[in-house]
Amino acid sequence: LVPFSGLSARKPDALLALIALHEADRRPGKIDVGVGVYRDETDRTPVMRAVKAAEVRLADEQPTKAYLGADGDVQYTALLSDVVFGSHRQEPRRFGLQTPGGTGALRLGAELIAHAAPDTRVWLGAPTWPNHAPIFEEARLKTATHPYFDMASGGIAFDAMIDALGDAAPGDVLLLHGCCHNPTGTQFTLAQWRELANLCNVRGLVPFVDLAYQGLGDGLEEDAAGVRQLLEAVPGALLAYSCDKNFGLYRERVGALWVQASAPGLTELVRGNLLALARSLWSMPPDHGAAIVRTILEDSALVMQWRDELDAMRARINAVRKALAAQHPALDAIAGQRGLFSLLPVDADAVASMRDSHGIYMPANARLNLAGLNARNLVAFAEALRPHIP
Ligand code: PLP
Repeated sequence: LVPFSGLSARKPDALLALIALHEADRRPGKIDVGVGVYRDETDRTPVMRAVKAAEVRLADEQPTKAYLGADGDVQYTALLSDVVFGSHRQEPRRFGLQTPGGTGALRLGAELIAHAAPDTRVWLGAPTWPNHAPIFEEARLKTATHPYFDMASGGIAFDAMIDALGDAAPGDVLLLHGCCHNPTGTQFTLAQWRELANLCNVRGLVPFVDLAYQGLGDGLEEDAAGVRQLLEAVPGALLAYSCDKNFGLYRERVGALWVQASAPGLTELVRGNLLALARSLWSMPPDHGAAIVRTILEDSALVMQWRDELDAMRARINAVRKALAAQHPALDAIAGQRGLFSLLPVDADAVASMRDSHGIYMPANARLNLAGLNARNLVAFAEALRPHIP
């Protein structure tokens, strides 16, 4: 047997390929609205000032880099749970631990599900973040999709979603974006969150919430309100969290996973399993990013600074949304959507043509990163887009 000859070829990640194409483009007016990072008005992704201040403090004061446990920095997780859960932070049925980014949290949650019930099906909305299906499938779980998005109105096709979930079996997992859906920019209303909680209870489904953009939609509290309401209403749930966007820490890989069980005794079982799984996956999560977040959350002045910077990011994204929506009636819905992304009402040919003729870089599904637009390029972008809008 030839080592590795049993492997089959895989498609390269389309977004990473797009980065390389954009890099290689020498046209001065090129526009990157593809890659999923925040950019300021000057088209940069700066390190947040609160993060820099925390890093300086860590460099001066961190006493050791000795190993922590498989759950990472427990003070980070405790302080972050105030941000995520607010007044709902005290919940004895819930256990949380630090993970390498939101991706690590999703994968660890997937492994937990696979160990608890290997035949579980995970229901994903279509479309969703392209890494969702691989994360669950690599953990040997089955996935199924339900319709979710109404392209014509740019809103949620809630009835169609509930209808499709009629095929879900008890024990199946329902993946939900906590806010700022990637790629559609849609969000559930509180009434819809209530209906989803009911659906989970009536049909025995387990919600797995992916909260990767808290604070980038309507505000820290607002963006978590639906999730908090859901968790209150259901017996068991998982929540994958990312600090990589709202603290601008992307490559530092900062996340957390919380699992809520139906009784404190079960939580202890969950806790033991999560620690064992984390130990075999990455032993312990990388420390630096979580230490930064902890250092900020421990200090009220740094918290204020972080919140101010996050508010400014959110205000800028929402201002770009309004400005772009004003460029064409077919883009109206973008003003009401939230987060970094919206899907443009154009096809893959239009995306390719905008790239060839104008140096505009987007994935083939026309997912737009609003933060790639600014006062200098927005009108040029809208003009390049206009002829392709049906
Ligand atoms: N979930 C969603 C919906 C995302 O868009 C992303 C990142 O793009 C993640 C999770 C993963 O975040 P992280 O970079 O922290 O792994």
